[in-house]
Amino acid sequence: MQANPIEVAVPAGATVFREGERGDCAYVVEQGEVEIAIERRGAVIPLASRGPGEVFGEMAIIDDKPRTATATALAPTTLLVISREQLTNRLRQTDPVLRMCLSVVLQRFRDTIAAMRTARGVAPPTRGHIGPTGDGGEHAAALGAIRLERELSEALERGDLELRYQPIVALARGATDGFEALVRWRHPERGLVSPAAFIPTAEASGLIVPLGRWVLREACAALGRLDRQSPGLAGSAQTPFISVNVSVHDLYDAGFVDHLTGVLRATGVRPGRIKLEITESLLMQQPETAAETLARCRALGVGIALDDFGTGYSGLGYLHRFPIDTLKIDRSFIEPLAAAGAVSPIVRSIIGLARELGLTLVAEGIEQPRQADTLRRLGCGMGQGFLYARPLVEADAAQFLTRGLPTGAGSEPRRPARTRRQPFRQGLCRDA
Ligand code: C2E
Ligand code: CA
Ligand code: CA
Repeated sequence: MQANPIEVAVPAGATVFREGERGDCAYVVEQGEVEIAIERRGAVIPLASRGPGEVFGEMAIIDDKPRTATATALAPTTLLVISREQLTNRLRQTDPVLRMCLSVVLQRFRDTIAAMRTARGVAPPTRGHIGPTGDGGEHAAALGAIRLERELSEALERGDLELRYQPIVALARGATDGFEALVRWRHPERGLVSPAAFIPTAEASGLIVPLGRWVLREACAALGRLDRQSPGLAGSAQTPFISVNVSVHDLYDAGFVDHLTGVLRATGVRPGRIKLEITESLLMQQPETAAETLARCRALGVGIALDDFGTGYSGLGYLHRFPIDTLKIDRSFIEPLAAAGAVSPIVRSIIGLARELGLTLVAEGIEQPRQADTLRRLGCGMGQGFLYARPLVEADAAQFLTRGLPTGAGSEPRRPARTRRQPFRQGLCRDA
């Protein structure tokens, strides 16, 4: 049941709400006119009038404080009601920095109105104000996001980002077919920071575009260096590919395909050795633009992998709609395979689907030999995970490639000798 009606009719001269009351809703004037006024020592001081199409009464909902003024209908008036939930749900989805700015603007406005009530027209300064819908923690998080964004921007300029390369292994042959490039931030105080701690900020701020461009350039350059360190592989079918994670902003950036073409040309990397990893949720945001951009990438010869497969909600239609050639089965489906005798019907179905559609399959997050065995038996082509290697620095990746997995590694793959371990702290990476 709705607490508030959708529409209210207010006769001329009636009060909609009074100064000091708790607000339950905001209004849009559909017809008529409303006066907003405050009282000072018995006298009514009109502040504004609101006519058709105009909103009023929103402040008390946004900052959850008493009404600052009284609203009175000047004529027979019809009002559309905006409920507290409608506003607060939207606010919750807004960027925390914007929410913080909104709270500051509202507080300044409240201060101005408070000043109008005093004899001298000056209000006492407000103390301890924190935010419209949140608390001190939210305010601190917003300030933290601003600081992080500035630091990340400097890190990009200074070259403090680094890539790690996690081997992607052919399960049957036990050989390294390629690597996934994973970004890290070498922070001067916090050490090596994991992408989970800064990619969301990079996306919210737009820094993801220069960051994504750097990752692509660096990954292609690294591929050239790996080739030079393993001349035996040059030109053979075993030259590794590199998978690069692509964010929503990369894909919808008008210059993305040109940048990709330029990087391939500058580094001399064959397009077939690059795969772009995208997630289902990313595809569904602007499907037409995504389909067009991916078709252009595919036309260049670059591969397209669907990351975290099985975790989205978009149905299977997009497997035809987008030029996808690889599915990466999400780690959450691989984990249960570690239990004795466990063969997930979902994994079996995904493998069958990939076979039917002629798609390459990569299982993510393989940690146990039993998981690898089951996947191999079911016909999954490739896998990656801590069982084979954590994300490696470039030198270790080169070694991993040339030494390959030991014979029989199909069932007992090893960890690379030089993978360094670090104690785990939140937001920091375990790989070095
Ligand atoms: P993702 O694309 O799903 O990458 C795989 C993540 O799983 C990596 O975490 C990897 O270290 C981790 N992983 C691999 N094998 C195992 C395993 O056996 N067990 C467990 N528990 N984890 C495993 P990482 O490097 O922290 O990256 C996290 C996410 O950050 C990535 O998830 C990706 O979404 C994003 N990311 C990383 N690099 C980039 C980048 O260059 N650009 C963009 N846009 N996103 C990136
Ligand atoms: Ca990925
Ligand atoms: Ca993934």
